[in-house]
Amino acid sequence: MTEPLVDPFQRAINYLRVSVTDRCDFRCVYCMSENMTFLPKAELLTLEELDRMCSTFVRMGVEKLRITGGEPLVRREIMTFFRAMSRHLESGALKELTLTTNGSQLERFAGDLAEAGVRRINVSLDTLDEAKFAEITRWGRLPQVLRGIDAAQEAGLRIKINVVALKGFNEDELFTLTDWCAERDMDLTFIEVMPMGDIGNENRLGQYWPLKDLRATLAEQYTLVDLAERTGGPARYVRLDETGQKIGFITPLTHNFCESCNRVRLTCTGELYMCLGQEDMADLRAPLRAAPNDDTPLEEAIRAAILRKPKGHDFDYSRQSLGGQMPRHMSHTGG
Ligand code: SAM
Ligand code: SF4
Repeated sequence: MTEPLVDPFQRAINYLRVSVTDRCDFRCVYCMSENMTFLPKAELLTLEELDRMCSTFVRMGVEKLRITGGEPLVRREIMTFFRAMSRHLESGALKELTLTTNGSQLERFAGDLAEAGVRRINVSLDTLDEAKFAEITRWGRLPQVLRGIDAAQEAGLRIKINVVALKGFNEDELFTLTDWCAERDMDLTFIEVMPMGDIGNENRLGQYWPLKDLRATLAEQYTLVDLAERTGGPARYVRLDETGQKIGFITPLTHNFCESCNRVRLTCTGELYMCLGQEDMADLRAPLRAAPNDDTPLEEAIRAAILRKPKGHDFDYSRQSLGGQMPRHMSHTGG
């Protein structure tokens, strides 16, 4: 271990989210345009480079790795990478290896993920209606995802379902989704939609369903008990008294979580974003490739980047404008 990573605001950085590909087999309307141009393969970090990158962060105190994308499970040979990362779980340096997935490939990979030491996964699923699922993901098919969820549970993976709250789209499924997760013993988190990337002519403001409204509707049928649990991220949790179920709310547009932020994001091309809502980033691919047998320049670049981590972000829907809108796609930075 080297000196742990601490930013200028005394926040310890122990959580790295890594996008392993910008590609995806879905085209969710709030995330991508239908005709996406993806990066040339040569731009992407190879699996060996991803290993070096993540292992360096682990040496510098990162204890939690979340693999995301794009769709991480469509990256060729991605299980090689998961298996490689499991050595850090075995050594105890890494406490958690996890991923966020659309579930389309879980039927195939759930067993391998469990074997590599993955214990919990996030599956994104905005609706339980087949036609609406096809509409929101454009290319996705619900039965395939449901089979993936079954396979993951059979493999012993704990599942959290992530639902993007979309006005006029899944408002009517609030209770159906909640009950479905309770029945299957899955955690559930609602995410407020964020202004990310150029996604064509979808009206984002029309899609914005503030979670405080969602929460108020939920409270009409359930007793919501606030939990003190904090993850260092934008999630807040409640327990439903009636079912015992835990529900999370992710409101990235508010500022109330920045002071405890413990995370940074690595893109599939090796750019390190110190804040989801800010443009500043550090190119880590250059120092990585410049010194194939020496991680010192990479470590120095990481340390310098962490010293530039900003205090907070600039998203703002409050003036009914897309103030602070980010030009890059979630699939690039990894949601
Ligand atoms: N493909 C994987 C998936 O869908 O879970 C991982 C990558 S995806 C970018 C990660 C998460 O970001 C998903 O839960 C997705 O719903 C969410 N997401 C994508 N675009 C978003 C947006 N504009 N606002 C809020 N959440 C978004
Ligand atoms: Fe793909 Fe995930 Fe984006 Fe949907 S949210 S298009 S599944 S990366």
